[in-house]
Formats: sequence, structure tokens, C-alpha cells
Amino acid sequence: MALIGITCESDHTGSTTWLHDSYYRAVEKVGGTPILLPPLYPGPAMERLLPVLDGLLLSGGGDVDPCYFGEEPLPNTGLITPDRDLFEITLTRRALAKGIPIFGICRGMQVLNIAAGGDIYQDLALSGEVSRVKHCQSAPRWHPTHEIIIRSESLTADILESRQIRVNSFHHQILRKLTPGLKATAWARDGVIEAVEGTGQGFVLGVQFHPESMCCRQPVFLNLFEALNRAAVQRRLSDVDETVAKIIQGKPAAQVE
Ligand code: MN
Repeated sequence: MALIGITCESDHTGSTTWLHDSYYRAVEKVGGTPILLPPLYPGPAMERLLPVLDGLLLSGGGDVDPCYFGEEPLPNTGLITPDRDLFEITLTRRALAKGIPIFGICRGMQVLNIAAGGDIYQDLALSGEVSRVKHCQSAPRWHPTHEIIIRSESLTADILESRQIRVNSFHHQILRKLTPGLKATAWARDGVIEAVEGTGQGFVLGVQFHPESMCCRQPVFLNLFEALNRAAVQRRLSDVDETVAKIIQGKPAAQVE
């Protein structure tokens, strides 16, 4: 059993926090135990979450305040949720430092990159290229509308069991400079980064699409949640092993048996 914390959406007034059920249902379906994380202020309550969480799922939502990557807001920047930004960026940095498995979805992938020192284009139109792919789809959430090409020999390709797959798309912001801790592993046909993985040891994964909205019709997208849960279970077990090892080391040999 692994406890997977899922960050929530907030409205821009900061008075309401919620989560679409598709996120926690996906975690529940793959055998994880989801818990919803409200946008706590950095401090003792947030710190106490860290030893409890076996995995972290960063959910989708609105735009990240561009102050986190040193830019002024541009006219196309959408609604900003300051408490959520602060909570997610602080929590993500702490989780990365502690090696807690992380999976970021849409905004969550952008939060992951920004928290680790990368940045994003505040709007797709600013990427310098005339975008040839529609990334804000006008179709049901479960319907995949554009193709992504996945890097071979990547975790993303292994998990999605393919090198080419169609995904849904609900974003107007895209990754720009990747932090050295992440590498791109999937792209849309126009070059927009659609998936990233950590370059280090721990499980760090991000996707620009919304697997939680597609997995009810295409079970292959559940694999992403399964992978997060597997990594979270392994982490919990290795924590137990470490604790047992410490107990054993602290005792005379005769008592260990
Ligand atoms: Mn897209």
C-alpha cells in the first residue's frame, strides 16, 4: 500500500479548493491510496506531510505565476492562484530533495520544471514558431486529438507501450528551458514537449496531456498511475528495509535472530 498525495485546484480568489474525481479514481484503480492535499502554507503542517507521502501527483489547472521564473505577466497569462503556486512549488522542491516519486500532469509538469529551475512559455504563441497543432482542443476530455512522438528507450515509451500515441490537449502554456534534472521524452508534431522524465535515480515523470481523463476509455493511460504507484510502493518498502536494518544494527547479534 502506498499513500499518494494529490494537489488540488484552487480558484483565483483563493476561497475554494477542489479536485476532479478522475485523478483520485485513477490512483484508487491502480491500488494506491489517494489523499487530497489542500494548498497549505509552507510550515510545520506541510513539513509533516513529507514523511507520510509515498508519492506525489501534481494535478492540472491554471497558469503558474511567471514571477517564479523571473518574468512579468504577459497579456495572455491566465488566472493565477498564489497559494497553490507557493504550496506546489515548495512541496515539489522538498519532494525532489527527498526522492519522493512524482508524477506531474499538465500544469503539474510545468510546476515540476519551474520548481527545479526551468521555465515555460507563458503562451504557445510566444514560442517563436507558428504552431501547427491545436493544443486547446474543442472535443470531449476523453478524446485524444493530437499525436505525440515518444523517445525510444524511455520510461515514457515503456509505460505507454508505444512510440507514437494520440493524446488529449488542454494547454496554452508549454515548457521552454528544461532544468538539467529533466529530459524531454515526447513531443507533439510541432515540437511542443509533451512528456519529461527525471535524469536522476528517483521516479520523476511529467506529461502535458491529461491521462486521468482518457484512461476510462483507453486503459493504457492508467499505466502512468500504475508506474507512480509502483515507485511509491517500492519507496515505502525500502524505507521499511532501512528502518529494519537500523534496528538490527542497533541490537546485539543474539537478539536479531
Ligand atoms: Mn498538447
